[in-house]
Amino acid sequence: MKIVVPVKRVVDYNIKPRVKADGSGVETAGVKMSMNPFDEIAVEEAIRLKEKGVATEVVVVSIGVQQAQDTLRTAMAMGADRAILVLSEESPEPLAVAKVLKAIVAKEEPGLVILGKQAIDDDMNATGQMLAGLLGWGQGTFAGKVDVADGSVRVSREIDGGTEEVSLTLPAIITADLRLNEPRYASLPNIMKARKKPLETLNAADLGVDMTRRLTVVSVAEPPQRQAGVKVGSVSELVEKLRNEAKVI
Ligand code: AMP
Repeated sequence: MKIVVPVKRVVDYNIKPRVKADGSGVETAGVKMSMNPFDEIAVEEAIRLKEKGVATEVVVVSIGVQQAQDTLRTAMAMGADRAILVLSEESPEPLAVAKVLKAIVAKEEPGLVILGKQAIDDDMNATGQMLAGLLGWGQGTFAGKVDVADGSVRVSREIDGGTEEVSLTLPAIITADLRLNEPRYASLPNIMKARKKPLETLNAADLGVDMTRRLTVVSVAEPPQRQAGVKVGSVSELVEKLRNEAKVI
């Protein structure tokens, strides 16, 4: 069974994002970019399934600018076998990504597509669900545990206040949550080896996908500055402030 893992290049999670001066989005010029953390978890899960003998090949896919090939090389250094880069604008919207992935699925015929549950740049949390809808496949979103056996996959989903177990017939879509696993670091020899692994570059138009945006970002703003706190002298002063200033009791 082949596994496809879509990986997105996003602003590194350690970097504090800055809003562009014209409020049109988040600044990415000159900013450290990395693989979306949930996609690292998805890659790790696919590699573990290959190590267990459940999967035979792990193919990573990124839709974005040329530099996204660095993200794909990172995934191959972790252990993915080959990569596909579909050239487009930076950060295409989820419906366009899902349509490209549908075309990749038609070409690659995987048994599983494992995505991240969301990309940390625009927090859409939509691509996996849209892809499942476009393909008519079952979906196990927010996966905390995955077991593949006999043509089906059992997914333990992270839901409010607990977990939910679902069983999906393969082929299926999974989106990875934080507790699924702890991704490995790529070793130096594997980083070197990844340079020689195959990376195919395509255009969205080659796949017959219309990437026209349907969403317009009206504005992006920094959160309001937090005000400095005050020290209270006594419990009664605290109660008085909570009652009369904050009006929360
Ligand atoms: P989102 O719906 O944008 O929050 O993204 C959910 C998941 O879809 C991500 O964790 C990735 O696995 C995948 N994804 C989203 N955008 C892209 C992209 N441009 N290239 C590859 N994968 C993507």
